Amino acid sequence: MATEGHKYIFVIGGVMSGVGKGIATSSMGLLLQSRGYPVNLVKIDPYLNVDAGTMNPTEHGEVFVLRSGLETDQDMGNYERFLGRDLAPEDYMTGGMVYKTVIENERALRYGGKCVEAIPHVRDEIMRRVEAAAAHNGSKISIIEVGGTVGDFQNALFIEAARVLKMQHPDDVLFVMVTYLPIPGTLGEMKTKPTQNAVRQLNAYGVQPDFLIARAKTPLDAKRKEKLSLAISVRPDHIISAPDVESIYDVPLNFEADKLGDTLLDALKLPASAQSNFGAWREFVKNTKLTQPEITVGIVGKYFDTGDFVLSDAYLSVIEAIKFSGAALQVKPKIEWLNSKDFEKGGDVAVLANYDGIIVPGGFGETGIEGKIKAIEFVRTNNIPYFGLCYGMQLAVVEYARHVAGLEGAHTVEINPAAPHPIVDVMPDQKQVIAEGKYGGTMRLGVYPAELKEGTIAREAYGTARVEERHRHRYEINPEYIERLTRAGLVFSGTSPDGILMEIAELPRDIHPFFLGTQFHPELQARPLAPHPLFTEFLKAAVMRATAHGS
Ligand code: GLN
Repeated sequence: MATEGHKYIFVIGGVMSGVGKGIATSSMGLLLQSRGYPVNLVKIDPYLNVDAGTMNPTEHGEVFVLRSGLETDQDMGNYERFLGRDLAPEDYMTGGMVYKTVIENERALRYGGKCVEAIPHVRDEIMRRVEAAAAHNGSKISIIEVGGTVGDFQNALFIEAARVLKMQHPDDVLFVMVTYLPIPGTLGEMKTKPTQNAVRQLNAYGVQPDFLIARAKTPLDAKRKEKLSLAISVRPDHIISAPDVESIYDVPLNFEADKLGDTLLDALKLPASAQSNFGAWREFVKNTKLTQPEITVGIVGKYFDTGDFVLSDAYLSVIEAIKFSGAALQVKPKIEWLNSKDFEKGGDVAVLANYDGIIVPGGFGETGIEGKIKAIEFVRTNNIPYFGLCYGMQLAVVEYARHVAGLEGAHTVEINPAAPHPIVDVMPDQKQVIAEGKYGGTMRLGVYPAELKEGTIAREAYGTARVEERHRHRYEINPEYIERLTRAGLVFSGTSPDGILMEIAELPRDIHPFFLGTQFHPELQARPLAPHPLFTEFLKAAVMRATAHGS
């Protein structure tokens, strides 16, 4: 059970999805946290996947990995970035997790011979999970985002659980609806009717919103706010106008200007304690909007048949990590996407010389692999700063093995199980899970420590001898090749404490301005006010190249 007096804010979407419910949730979290209240943010994904790990990122967006190793929706990444702290596995739930527990309970005869039903058993399991999330880490306020839009079949039970929680704790539960007010091109006028209908739909579940966040292209005018307030029974000062903004990081500042922090605390019957200080956040947002000096970063991946929108979602944390380090260095990083398949079909890798830095991000499978290796060879031999993330590190080591260490046919066994030199191999425990077809949640996941070697770029950048970073991969650098690769000049600057797993590979600075890859995903721990040191170091090298080229 959650502690007495714990407060819950449920965030529910109306009208349509994709209007920024996650950012609204994150921003409210930051407002309340900055007033001294310990906040935890919870994401509910109604789908039946037990976690987000088995979903294709080009369809569903990036798979975020928590410290614990739980694979989640990308919203959890936004939550952590806005709050500036780690969240726990209790803070994430899917429909699959909920049903799995209920079915396991039923199989274990834990329901005392009763007929197991959606109500009460599934609903109660949802409530148990919401309360378990509230009970950890000394949290005082939980903000819970219910995925999807009101009226979806699959989120009805979650809204029902929230309704019952409100019945049990009438003073401790608030509902915030995030809706969209369209301005149809033919009319040129903002329409409130879809929002009115969405509120009625929520009313049909027995739930009345206490607050409305009105997303729209432009601000909601006073007249419409009055009219809407009467139509949906939400006080005008509880209707927050949220027009489109240049940066998602503007949203908490706009909410703050609208006094949302104070009104929320008032509605929760909590004292409006210490005034918040958004000085550092303001400075950060200002620096994300610089237009000069510009540096161009190319991301080489297997992107085809997808639009820009999906692309940026699939690599959300990488983009944000670049933004944070760019803001810290007060430069404007411009990101361009390069299709590695083009380099296989005869496209000239020499275009990479137009970039100040190149990243090969995480990935799986064969598509575009030789194109990526060609790109890595080009940037290595042409002194272009290179940063490899997970797959990007493994492939950099393969490239080095083939072209410098003289290991012809070197490869990762993910692509060629019969490679004469299996530079990237599968560990015995992973062999077992693959043989059994157990793909969900079985990779090396979550935080692992790495020890950093003295005198290396990694050690210098972090400024410490031991770090903890988040992983998500099945394959590892084959320990049998470490000696030969090291002799050929590659430096393994970060390893597991027992020295068996290679976590960072780099080239010394006198050989290359910045050529470094990490087996982990540094982007998952980059935060607005705490940019990741390796991204910052990579961008520094890119800035030097841009300056040298007079761009
Ligand atoms: N496919 C590689 C592996 O499983 C890399 C994974 C990744 O880049 N996240 O080891």
